[in-house]
Amino acid sequence: MVSQLLRKVEGIVIRTNDYGETNKILTLYTREIGKIGVMARGAKKPQSRLTSVSQVFTYGHFLVQIGSGLGTLQQGEIISPFRGLREDLFKSAYGAYIVELTDKLTDEKKTNPYLFELLYQTLYFINEGLDQEILTYIYEMKMLNIAGIYPKLDGCVSCSNIEGKFAFSVREGGFICHRCFHLDPHLIPISPATMKLLRLFYYIDLHRLGKISVKEETKKELKTVISSLYDEYSGLTLKSKRFLNQLDHFQP
Ligand SMILES: [Zn+2]
Repeated sequence: MVSQLLRKVEGIVIRTNDYGETNKILTLYTREIGKIGVMARGAKKPQSRLTSVSQVFTYGHFLVQIGSGLGTLQQGEIISPFRGLREDLFKSAYGAYIVELTDKLTDEKKTNPYLFELLYQTLYFINEGLDQEILTYIYEMKMLNIAGIYPKLDGCVSCSNIEGKFAFSVREGGFICHRCFHLDPHLIPISPATMKLLRLFYYIDLHRLGKISVKEETKKELKTVISSLYDEYSGLTLKSKRFLNQLDHFQP
């Protein structure tokens, strides 16, 4: 017998998979131990005490039995169901992308309380109705390092100059100045506002972020730069991302 440890953790359900007729396997991202998988027995039955805590986006306390493999969920207590995230098509699409990105970029049982906090705050703010597009860009910028991507955002990626006209070079991995434009034939033209925001999103603490309003054209540039970075370097193709791109045409 492998010894099992009973632990109470604070976490968010980032994925659920049906298992058999009545069970679910939940993927939780927790403050204490990072990502874990747990079996929620009976969670597919409507009258089970685990049903309500076994929904994607649920934020709560979970009593889990942890062994070497898949853990077992004993009890759960909802802190917030993040109802807004589930009931609004747009919010839930953005939320689904945030949790899928987190799932794909993290390994099990690697503690990262900073990432937990970032995930929690991002979902919280989307749930509250803050600009979900901007929150997603911030999240993506902050997840770059976890994806193993380290863009150079303080000066030209080639000559380090901090003055001049700048564009973004996906190939070189950062801002590039007009003196070095010849290095990359596929430069992405960006405005100074986009440059400033990319840097801000990469460095700032989310809870220190005040109210920001961003023009549509700036949002488009942010999206192009960030998506291109992920496409080029992350190796990910996410279903939730494809759905978001389709939804984009219907964005109010
Ligand atoms: Zn340069």
